[in-house]
Amino acid sequence: MQRARGYDPEPMNVPPLFQTPSRPLAMLRWLIAKFMWPQSLAWIGLAAVAYHVLTPGLGRFASLGVDDVGLLWLRNVGLMLVVIGGQHWWLHIRKSQGTEFKYESRWLATNRKSFLFNNQTRDNMFFTLVSGGGIAAVFEAIMFRLYATESIPQLGPLWAIAVMTFAVFWMEAVHFYFNHRLLHLDPLYGWFHALHHRNVNTGPWSGISMHPGEHVLYLSLPFVFLVVPGSPFIITFCSVYLMISPSPSHSGLDRFKMTEGTNFHGGDYFHNLHHRYFEVNYGMLLLPLDKWFGTFHDGSMEAHEEMKSRRRASAEAGDTEAVIGGDST
Ligand SMILES: [Zn+2]
Ligand SMILES: [Zn+2]
Repeated sequence: MQRARGYDPEPMNVPPLFQTPSRPLAMLRWLIAKFMWPQSLAWIGLAAVAYHVLTPGLGRFASLGVDDVGLLWLRNVGLMLVVIGGQHWWLHIRKSQGTEFKYESRWLATNRKSFLFNNQTRDNMFFTLVSGGGIAAVFEAIMFRLYATESIPQLGPLWAIAVMTFAVFWMEAVHFYFNHRLLHLDPLYGWFHALHHRNVNTGPWSGISMHPGEHVLYLSLPFVFLVVPGSPFIITFCSVYLMISPSPSHSGLDRFKMTEGTNFHGGDYFHNLHHRYFEVNYGMLLLPLDKWFGTFHDGSMEAHEEMKSRRRASAEAGDTEAVIGGDST
């Protein structure tokens, strides 16, 4: 559907396993054909290149120094410039598919005071490359040191590493939902998360354009492997997945067009609605915690009306509390 403001895909459903009735076989098809292919597999492939080709051997991390963190940061910057910058160039500079499949018909802000340097892309690149890439490098280096000194449990067999790599997607669905909900509470929202939400109309560089305080929370997933057995590759995978996967999901375009009639899944409509309406879709569609906690917006008019009535109810409750507070003092 092409609306006056931009492209609206059809309303979304939760994955087949979580529908009523539950459809486990359809879930398997959904996982392979929609979830893993092509994006999730691309993140695993990219992490394999990052770990085996672009990351120094584990040995040097046993005596951790600033230079080790610096190398990981440089690797992160390089990866982000190529993958995120590539999408930005293709979709937002070259505008190769124009506004086809684009959620918002307008382009990114180039002269707005709310952004650093008055420019949305430069602002987003700064927070992504300096803070995002830097904090991810520190966390990865800490975990590498612990593996190098055999201080934490490590998986041996390849099959176990593969299973745990797949489990990371589910772990992150839980981790992201809860840290994201936390960030929407005062005063954390004002201190940290408001910076990410300056981007209502998002681009690839908006994905992890976050305040350093939010990066510390958002990028903390690898620390799960302080207690759960993991591996150095899985830590790099966490890092790559957290840094890079938000770029297509924030790209602003639902599908990436290759040729006339050939396109593949690009943006994340579910998260796009979060940037549009704030109080819905805190998590990920993979594990629909929003459905279970009553904050799911599937893009339909019905879900929109439900969201508005929730807003009215909480505004009225807020007024009542204010009156009660006033009476008691
Ligand atoms: Zn976002
Ligand atoms: Zn948010």
